[in-house]
Amino acid sequence: MKLNERGLLVVISGPSGVGKGTIREALFELPDNNFCYSVSMTTRKPREGEVDGEDYYFVSREEFERRIDENQFLEYAEFVGQYYGTPRDYIERKLNEGKEVIIEIEVQGALKVRERMPEAVFVFIVPPSRDVLFERLMNRGTEMTNDIKKRIEKAEREFHLAYKYDYIVVNDDVYNAADRIVAIIRAEHARTERSIHKYYEIMEGKEDVEEES
Ligand code: 5GP
Repeated sequence: MKLNERGLLVVISGPSGVGKGTIREALFELPDNNFCYSVSMTTRKPREGEVDGEDYYFVSREEFERRIDENQFLEYAEFVGQYYGTPRDYIERKLNEGKEVIIEIEVQGALKVRERMPEAVFVFIVPPSRDVLFERLMNRGTEMTNDIKKRIEKAEREFHLAYKYDYIVVNDDVYNAADRIVAIIRAEHARTERSIHKYYEIMEGKEDVEEES
């Protein structure tokens, strides 16, 4: 039985090109997972194959700014000249339903979530080496050279912010990385501060202890 019934907000973050997106996909391929993905909103143009409402909600700058004014984002950031933001409502609803909500965001945004929802779990993804990251960014083929350069410079600065996260996961192999995140989520549910209230209720006889299903 799980003592903490509320879902966890799991923030997967790290420099562009570390493989956050593929790790997230691997998490969702796991059987019997209880995850849901919060689709972000962006003003960036869709890449080939990207689907509106699945990869991102693609909107204009005007629309994004209107939503900022309406306080619709848990966080948003400007990244290489484009806005990216996490809609707030969906997350609250899913956490209350007991789902683990995965968000995959860049570093500035993750640090804002840390201020607003310190109870979330913050995972910093790192590449097995600097060269691997730079190669990944160079070989993406979807970005303009100038954007790649900006992404590399940004990644260099962001490596120094790893200490602000709860966990560091090396993306040496995407399935290993996903396994480590699952282990982190399990352990986080068992943390005393998340589970002690329910535990006391059980011990005071207000709740029946159920067998693990
Ligand atoms: P890309 O253009 O490669 O899809 O994303 C650029 C960066 O923005 C990535 O590091 C990605 O994780 C991040 N990102 C995606 N959605 C959000 C979001 O809602 N908020 C923030 N702060 N970053 C995001």
